Amino acid sequence: MATPVVATSTFVAGGVRGYGRYANPTWEAFEQAVGSLEGGTCLSFASGMGAVSATVAALAGEREGEEAVVVPSDGYHTAVDLITRLGRPVRSVSMADTDAVVAALDGAALLWVESPTNPLLEVADLPTLLDAARSRGVRVAVDATAATPLRLRPLEHGADVVVHAATKYLSGHSDLLMGVAGTTDADTAERLLAHRTLHGAVPGAFEAWLALRGLRTLPVRLDRAEATARVLAARLGAHEAVSRVRYPGLGALVSIEVHGGAERADAVAAGTTLWVQATSFGGVESLLERRRRWPSERDVVPESLIRLSVGIEDVEDLWADLDAALTRP
Ligand SMILES: *Cc1c(COP(=O)(O)O)cnc(C)c1O
Repeated sequence: MATPVVATSTFVAGGVRGYGRYANPTWEAFEQAVGSLEGGTCLSFASGMGAVSATVAALAGEREGEEAVVVPSDGYHTAVDLITRLGRPVRSVSMADTDAVVAALDGAALLWVESPTNPLLEVADLPTLLDAARSRGVRVAVDATAATPLRLRPLEHGADVVVHAATKYLSGHSDLLMGVAGTTDADTAERLLAHRTLHGAVPGAFEAWLALRGLRTLPVRLDRAEATARVLAARLGAHEAVSRVRYPGLGALVSIEVHGGAERADAVAAGTTLWVQATSFGGVESLLERRRRWPSERDVVPESLIRLSVGIEDVEDLWADLDAALTRP
């Protein structure tokens, strides 16, 4: 039943695989599982950023000219930093503002979408954006980490590449870093593979095994965390310490803004016991953090914004802990 951890750096000559940086049966089992969820060919990487790097290179890195890249204004900051280093003009737009995104596409090489965005949880109108991009010859990558393939399948809408930080929901237990890039185009798949092989951001066999193990429970984890997130989002909306709740109605991330600015938000994030103050999301344990504690976080993210990654604990335990931290003077 279970795929073995194939821990090997090389393979006996004459078989289907040549060397441990090119291929590994444990990665392949994970890739096939995610590929069937996404409806495309998936490759796994050593981290989400490994997948982002290969995707940016495959879709924009090798194209000449001064064509721009369009990025989400509150996109995952490391991905936006990497794109900025391409040396192409970067147009930063809110993914929820469909007209503004479409207006930014003229003369662009690549549209980099996140949906929902991290951490403002804005949702992109993918069918409209993909139509507009296709008619202008703009390539499109969608980072669907926060949605998971159970809530959004960008390849079905015609995206060139879908990207995930498998570090988050796909593996789901806060115990590894991995990334995935998927496509339905054979040429793009080849470029992604060439990038992985040349740059060497390959996952470990044990990480791939753990990710596959985690993936088996994705629907159960997500349904549970999402049901809890809905309850918490509604209650937070009525909480007097909270000035704004962002919840797209799906998924298990909720972002809140609290009255009292950064200082108060830091106190709330440090004041819980069941919720753990830590970055990242998508695990079975509930985490929270004030995003602007990171100097690299975008200015469009409010100082008092706390991102909640809802786990699978009991909803009333989570509420009691959060309510106490919000209410404490
Ligand atoms: C975490 C994350 C990444 C990067 O993943 P790593 O595994 O940390 O490299 C990329 N995109 C999004 C939306 C993320 O949340």
